[in-house]
Amino acid sequence: MARFGARPVLPMTAPGLGPDEPGRAAAALEHVAAELDRRAERAGSDGSDILAATAMIARDPGLADRVADLARTQPAAWAVDSAVGEYRALLAGGHLAERTTDLDDIRDRAVAWLLDQPVPGPPSPGHPYVLVATDLAPADTALLDPAQVLAIVTERGGPTSHTAILAKALGIPAVVGCAGSFVDGQVVQVDGDAGVVRTDPVPVTARTLLDVGPGRTADGHRIELLANIGGPDPVHGVEGVGLVRTEFLFLGRSRPPTVREQQAAYREVLAPLVGRKVVVRTLDAGSDKPIPYAATGSALGIRGFRIARARPDLLRDQLEALARAAADTGATPWVMAPMITTATEAAAFATAAREHGLTTAGAMIEVPAAALRAADIAAEVDFLSIGSNDLAQYTFAADRLLTDLADLLDPWQPALLDLVAHVATIPKPVSVCGEAAADPLLALVFAGLGIGALSMAPISLPAVRTALAAHTLPQCRELAAAVRRATTPAEARATARRLAEEAGQFRG
Ligand code: PEP
Ligand code: MG
Repeated sequence: MARFGARPVLPMTAPGLGPDEPGRAAAALEHVAAELDRRAERAGSDGSDILAATAMIARDPGLADRVADLARTQPAAWAVDSAVGEYRALLAGGHLAERTTDLDDIRDRAVAWLLDQPVPGPPSPGHPYVLVATDLAPADTALLDPAQVLAIVTERGGPTSHTAILAKALGIPAVVGCAGSFVDGQVVQVDGDAGVVRTDPVPVTARTLLDVGPGRTADGHRIELLANIGGPDPVHGVEGVGLVRTEFLFLGRSRPPTVREQQAAYREVLAPLVGRKVVVRTLDAGSDKPIPYAATGSALGIRGFRIARARPDLLRDQLEALARAAADTGATPWVMAPMITTATEAAAFATAAREHGLTTAGAMIEVPAAALRAADIAAEVDFLSIGSNDLAQYTFAADRLLTDLADLLDPWQPALLDLVAHVATIPKPVSVCGEAAADPLLALVFAGLGIGALSMAPISLPAVRTALAAHTLPQCRELAAAVRRATTPAEARATARRLAEEAGQFRG
């Protein structure tokens, strides 16, 4: 393993003021924003959205004003450091806590530029390595070379943080929020699926990865294995796409995209998927995905489908653009709304979708109220998709971005599995599209509960496909029943692992 470069440090005593400290500070922030823009251009679709959003923070007028104020009495580097510190304090602990990583990165880059110090960055030890960092900014994660960086371990960050999402998109195993102590050069073993880092690794048996063909159990029961994508990403070799996160079109801009812009973007997403299943989710702004002109709501406020209360035009435009892109390409997208909470909302969404000629409309099940009344919701729509990330957040009243609450957000929590089990009994297509679907062992449980489709980051598909292909449906059912008797996540996981190993076919 090798450690990420050290952050720039302000000298103990500040030098005297130069002739134009406010001007230097402003130039530093613009330099950082421009660098982030350059990186956004080189990054994949998930990365470029996130980096463009970070560049917007660096150009935030409020931040610029505060830095300029402070730079009248402090050298520019100190002014940037203090102003960012104030912003940080406002965000820390709140629903935008994850953005503190972005602020730290902006500060480090600006301070390094002002003090003429090297910008912190990934090491280059001259061989592939495991990257260990206190925290990793999206700007660095997005451009990591998967051929060099074998895995990532960070001390901070939650499982659904930007770093974790970007690492997954790049296919780099990552364990975030890991409070270990590591020494440069030490040999470590990182299991991104299990979230485990071992410093005394034993030799690992290579998994056989069957990375082609549709998902099915050993006895031929079909479980659709679909990809989650965040833009017109490559989709070679996948059965279909179970979640298109459309936020990519809305992030990092000051106005929503027009119908024509959206139509063009959806065309790009749909064109390679003609003849395959593709599920497009309408805008899920708010909470962990703040998009100022659409929704700035907290996790319990205006977000997801609720945006339509204040901005019905955004939903209408999106549905219209998607319908036109479907007609242009000949694809037949399913469309679903995030954060549906009641059957009334589900009915309103389905009506809106059908009015635009989108005939297969679904609801995401991410709120406990929706899970409990899944039958009522299903009566209004054609399919359900469980968003396990948010369902965990709302079931456990635990912000999905807070590392300290990772134990509550564990997808093996019995209460979460109870809700999934209940939704899985609905006699309409039910999928899981949160991060939980990517755990090969949990995929066996979901199959046993009756879930018909699992959608995940494409990199996770081979391991899940392999696990399913190694177990019969009755074995999955037995495993699911045993797991549901467990009273803690640890017991649930251990039970599943034991039964899978007894079946002789699971090597995790
Ligand atoms: C989820 O909440 O599980 C989900 C799939 O949606 P997102 O992570 O985009 O909120
Ligand atoms: Mg969600």
